[in-house]
Amino acid sequence: MIDTFDRARFEQALGFLPLGAKFIGAKSGQLEYLVPICNKIRCYCGTKFYPAPGYSTAKCPKCGRVGEITGLTPGEVSVKVYSSIDPITGVCRESGDDSIRLVMVGHKGKPLGKIDNYTTRIAGWEERLKNKFRIMWAIAQTLPRCPKCHHVVGWNVCKSGQNKDRMFARCWGCNVWIGWKDET
Ligand SMILES: [Zn+2]
Ligand SMILES: [Zn+2]
Repeated sequence: MIDTFDRARFEQALGFLPLGAKFIGAKSGQLEYLVPICNKIRCYCGTKFYPAPGYSTAKCPKCGRVGEITGLTPGEVSVKVYSSIDPITGVCRESGDDSIRLVMVGHKGKPLGKIDNYTTRIAGWEERLKNKFRIMWAIAQTLPRCPKCHHVVGWNVCKSGQNKDRMFARCWGCNVWIGWKDET
């Protein structure tokens, strides 16, 4: 039994996200959101805060010290959320095949590997969705960078041969091999 929800309820369910979810349109026939992934950074003065999007440095809101961001900067890796909410009716679609889908994306909105994540919409979906975000957050911290262009790249799964099912990273843009996940 699908739990029917509308836009307001869906956005409320995304309310726990520290950097929020930005509504980006309905190209796929459903409302889409973009959620930046980023951890709090800790200043020498002890203050923890989220850095502003688009910069590789961050300014502490308390003491004003400016520091380099060593982890992911906001906007570098995001989760694209396909809500299953019909833009015309404003409620989630009736079809049982639909689900809420999360796709991790990187530079220029390119999907980072095959970490698609589906959440069925039966009762309790809010909590399950929250868990999926937690998993994505954790995976995002493990993503390597291309040594050439410095963009974050996703994990891919080897489909055949002696390394079948092994995860690896490669920058497809630069055609640079980065490595196996189990060796990092
Ligand atoms: Zn500070
Ligand atoms: Zn590259």
